[in-house]
Amino acid sequence: MPPYPLGGAGREAALDEKPTNDMIDSQMAEIHRVGVIGAGQMGSGIAHVCALAGFEVALNDISEERVRAGIATINGNMARQVARKAITESDRQAALARIAAADKLEDLADCDLVIETAIEKEDVKRKIFATLCPLLKEGAIVGTNTSSISITRLAAATDRPEKFIGIHFMNPVPVMELVEVIRGIATDDATYETIKAFVTRLGKKYAVAEDFPAFIVNRILLPMINEAIYTLYEGVGSVDAIDTAMKLGAHHPMGPLELADFIGLDTCLSVMQVLHEGLADSKYRPCPLLVKYVEAGWLGRKTKRGFYDYRGDKPVPTR
Ligand code: NAD
Repeated sequence: MPPYPLGGAGREAALDEKPTNDMIDSQMAEIHRVGVIGAGQMGSGIAHVCALAGFEVALNDISEERVRAGIATINGNMARQVARKAITESDRQAALARIAAADKLEDLADCDLVIETAIEKEDVKRKIFATLCPLLKEGAIVGTNTSSISITRLAAATDRPEKFIGIHFMNPVPVMELVEVIRGIATDDATYETIKAFVTRLGKKYAVAEDFPAFIVNRILLPMINEAIYTLYEGVGSVDAIDTAMKLGAHHPMGPLELADFIGLDTCLSVMQVLHEGLADSKYRPCPLLVKYVEAGWLGRKTKRGFYDYRGDKPVPTR
C-alpha cells in the first residue's frame, strides 16, 4: 500500500510530504527505462533530469537530426552543471551513457514509462498515442507534458486511460523545482502513486492539479503574459517598459514578454486557445498581437525572434 493518503487529485498539496528513500524505492520498482517523445527544449530537459537520476532514457523526435540536437543540448547543459560544480564529470559521463537516441517509436517498446512532450497540438499528440500504445508493454505508463490540454481527453485517445497521467514539468527542467501531476478521470491509484514517487526520485516537488484547462501554473501565468501583450498592443508601454515595470515593480525575475519568448510564443498561444475554448470566457481571448507574432513565425528564443530579436550579441526589443 502506498504511504501517501489516497485522496482525490487536488486535495493533496503534497509539497510538504517527505517520503523516505525506502518508500520511494518500493513504489518505483517498475520504472527503469523512460521514453521521451519530443527532443525540444522540454524533452531534452526531461531526458536530462531522468538520466541524472539514474533512469535509462530513450529520446525520440521526428528526425534523427532533432534527436541528435536534443542530446547535444543535454551535453552542453550538463557541462555547465559540471562547471558550476552542481554535478561531477563522472555524473555527466554516466548520465549521457544512459541516454539512447530512439529514431523510431518502436525503440520505446520496452519502456516502463513514456513521457510525450511534442508540440502543443492535440492532433499531433493523439497521432503519437495511436501509434505508440500498441507497441508498449501492457503495464507501461504513458504521461504527457502538455501545458494545457485535457488529460482525460488525451487519455481517451489511448488504449490505457487508467495508466495515463499528466506530468507537467516547468522550463528549464533541470533548474525548476516543481512538476504538476494531473490525473485524468480514469487514472488509477497505482499510476498516480508511481508518478508522484518518480517525480520525487527526480529531486522535484509535485503539486497536484485537477484536470481543468492549463491546470494551476499556466491558468495563472499565461493570462498574465497575455495581458502584458495586450498592454503592448494597446500602446500602454513598450516591450522594455513592460518588462522593466514587472521586474522592478513586482520583483519578477523575468519580464512577462521576455518570459513569453522563453516559453515559446506558439506554446503561449496554444495555451490561451485552450483556456479560451475550454472555459468559454472572453477574458482568455488571445491577444491579436500574439497571434500575429506566431503567424510571422516569430516564436521567441527558439526561432531567434519574438518580442526581442536574439540574432545579435544582446536581445533587442522588436517594438
Ligand atoms: P519545442 O518546440 O521546443 O519542441 C517540440 C519538439 O517536438 C520538437 O523537437 C518537434 O520536432 C517535436 N515533435 C513534433 N511532432 C512530433 C512527433 N510527431 N513525434 C515526435 N516529436 C515531435 O517545444 P517545447 O517547449 O519543448 O514544448 C513541448 C511540450 O511541452 C508542449 O506540449 C508544451 O506545451 C509543453 N511545455 C512547454 C513548456 C515551455 O515553457 N516551453 C513548459 C511546460 C510544458
